[in-house]
Amino acid sequence: NVPYQGLPGTKYERTFMMVKPDGVQRQLTGEIIKRMETKGYVLVGLKMVTPDEKLVSQHYDDLKARPFYKGLVKYMSSSGPVVAMVFQGKGVVDYGRVMIGVTDPLKSAPGTIRGDLSVDVGRNTIHGSDGTSPAQDEIALWFKPEEVADIKNCASAWIYEK
Ligand code: UDP
Ligand code: MG
Repeated sequence: NVPYQGLPGTKYERTFMMVKPDGVQRQLTGEIIKRMETKGYVLVGLKMVTPDEKLVSQHYDDLKARPFYKGLVKYMSSSGPVVAMVFQGKGVVDYGRVMIGVTDPLKSAPGTIRGDLSVDVGRNTIHGSDGTSPAQDEIALWFKPEEVADIKNCASAWIYEK
């Protein structure tokens, strides 16, 4: 069995991603999940959550000295639900970030989620963990162990050499 926060560096690596309130309201959840799944990553955790300020502050704890922090926490905790997700696969933390694009959608390449789907930095549609250690912390913050599935992907032998 895979530990629910994943095994960094293996095909059982896991990352935390979240469709932000703007992405949920704009009905982009399916599009975002589709991109991750068609890449070959496995969705092993999924829930809609309306986070309170406490949860959002914990999630963005590293940014609390930044000027945009207050507005970010308010936005994320008062604009309706988010969709919290755990994806699994080789390189999913770093490559997930490549698929998302950079923080500013206008600096994100076409083909990336933010580059294709959003415009403003404060409405950039999606969050993805920035490193395997934050990924493990964020999975534990947003999900209970029993909420993350141990899925053996039937296509695994066609995605991985071994
Ligand atoms: N953010 C913002 N203004 C900024 C920088 C960041 O509103 O000048 C928001 C933006 O939504 C970003 C989030 O704060 O996604 C977290 O910032 P971080 O630097 O961690 O960017 P990310 O890892 O999401 O690319
Ligand atoms: Mg970040």
